[in-house]
Amino acid sequence: MKTQLIDTIQALHDYKTTLKPEDSIGLVPTMGALHAGHLSLIQKSKAQNTHTIVSIFVNPTQFGPKEDFNQYPRDLQKDLFLCSTNGVDAVFAPTIAQMYPHSDTITLAPPKNLGYVFEGFIREGHFSGVLTIVLKLLHLIAPNRAYFGQKDAQQLLLIQRLSHDLFLPVQIIPCPTQRDTDGLALSSRNIYLSPQERQIALKIPATLEAIKQKIQEGQTQSAALLAIGKQMLQGLDIEYFAICDHHLSPLDTIQKDGTIVLVAAKVGKTRLIDNLWI
Ligand code: AMP
Repeated sequence: MKTQLIDTIQALHDYKTTLKPEDSIGLVPTMGALHAGHLSLIQKSKAQNTHTIVSIFVNPTQFGPKEDFNQYPRDLQKDLFLCSTNGVDAVFAPTIAQMYPHSDTITLAPPKNLGYVFEGFIREGHFSGVLTIVLKLLHLIAPNRAYFGQKDAQQLLLIQRLSHDLFLPVQIIPCPTQRDTDGLALSSRNIYLSPQERQIALKIPATLEAIKQKIQEGQTQSAALLAIGKQMLQGLDIEYFAICDHHLSPLDTIQKDGTIVLVAAKVGKTRLIDNLWI
């Protein structure tokens, strides 16, 4: 199946006029460099909608001035091939000028608590950029459902809030984290890791797995779980490691169906995030 490449907003409007009223759209927003994590979102969308649109846009406003916007991997031809072989109906890949027509632009502000802890604290302005671009994509594409990975836990929680607080007529569908065979959560940034760095990075999924195991064995105290985890994460440059509820407030005791273990760490120059939803 050939995926249609849509690279202007006008072409997107034209594409939408070809759909029937009974059709449904699933949107998978991405920054490209597609991997099996993205493909799992695509598969879920295909199972739930008549049409699946993947957006590919490396959004400049969610990168800080010292972050990897220029180095971020880009390969549209490979992404288009992957989309075609995975039955994606259309790829929306606009230019920056299309998505940000004015330099003095309207921007969304994340909520004070959820938006400014963890990633929001370390990456200043990041979630403002994420929420703004996601709202633009949701307005332009008007999907019935939009798919987001649990890998980016705080992003997912904020987009759920965006949809709820702004009364958006879209269902936000969370999708589980996909991992490589060695356990490392798939990420477009993993290509930055040397083989030695990758070995160190594997301490992250190993730690989350050990915490999961301890919880299954009956441990409910966050302090004890974090102490075990900190031991295992030695050698990594940890930015945060915490056990929280779905508002990202720290929890003393694990709550079933309401707890997330969050880790962010640097290995060399590469920043990795991972988490465990309990
Ligand atoms: P990105 O291209 O990194 O902006 O990611 C696009 C979407 O794919 C986001 O909703 C991510 O949470 C999701 N995603 C990224 N990596 C994974 C993964 N390993 N498993 C599941 N979803 C993922």
